[in-house]
Amino acid sequence: LEEGLRELALEPAATRDGRAVPVLANSGLLADIKPSLNSGAEGVGLYRTEVPFMIRDRFPGEEEQVEIYRQILASFDPMPVTLRTLDVGGDKALPYFPVQEDNPFLGWRGIRLTLDHPEIFLTQLRAMLKASREHPNLQILFPMISTLVELKEAMVLLNRARDELLDEGFVIPMPRVGVMIEVPAAVYLVETLARRVDFLSVGTNDLVQYLLAVDRNNARVANLYDTLHPASIRALELIAEGARRAGKPVSVCGEMASDPAAIILLLGMGIDSLSVSVSAIARVKWVIRSFSSDRTEALLAQCRLLENPDQVRSLLNNALVQAG
Ligand code: PEP
Ligand code: MG
Repeated sequence: LEEGLRELALEPAATRDGRAVPVLANSGLLADIKPSLNSGAEGVGLYRTEVPFMIRDRFPGEEEQVEIYRQILASFDPMPVTLRTLDVGGDKALPYFPVQEDNPFLGWRGIRLTLDHPEIFLTQLRAMLKASREHPNLQILFPMISTLVELKEAMVLLNRARDELLDEGFVIPMPRVGVMIEVPAAVYLVETLARRVDFLSVGTNDLVQYLLAVDRNNARVANLYDTLHPASIRALELIAEGARRAGKPVSVCGEMASDPAAIILLLGMGIDSLSVSVSAIARVKWVIRSFSSDRTEALLAQCRLLENPDQVRSLLNNALVQAG
């Protein structure tokens, strides 16, 4: 059985009725590349570029970054690789760039910080674009977007980086561009945001923390942090509907995407792909293969009527037990 499960994990996953739901890998380390490929990842749905920044003692230079990004793009080509721009701040600090704040999760993090430091942002964007010279599988993802202005400013800098490189004689394809939906404000703007980009990626780790006002790292309130909270389910439905109206694909890359019970709901909403840590890929594919679209839609409809997350979880766990 173990052997069979492993072999099956290398095949693309589809629901019982044949709807393909690609499962991609979350990563931040080049050491993850081989295990991801061996585990049947259909690309990288989230590469956290802050990880290589965090393990150095200074900002990596442009060529240093090109080499990191090129390796990951080359290893997965032609499968998509989503490089997220620097998402420091919050709980992720750079030892050589100290930021002191009372409320770091509500502070200077993600796109806010890189838009205030265009020299850091442009260096990274140039490196990503340069790395994609021979590998057009690059997708660029902007974290912590909460206004349309931020998206526009990020696009201006991306276009500037590309124009510079074209002037320097490089031939660079235009990458696909996406935004993270991980701030409640973005949920209410989702259709407008989706119309201006190629894809959406839902960061449920932050989205649930901000929706429920529960610090994702605080043990004292951990019992209140629940991705199956009715408000969280409703927010995800709004995101899926907005993306559909705009005709853009939406993926989920937070930890929720590897929770078997939650996957049933995400499938019911019509989420297009999932991005999870390498060790979860086989399990996630198993869940996708165990359900038809009709069944997940029916279960989602039942969950909508429930008042608390525990009821939702037990209903979905029963469905998983029935599925074998
Ligand atoms: C998230 O917020 O869900 C996410 C995927 O990003 P990170 O965990 O890196 O904040
Ligand atoms: Mg996040």
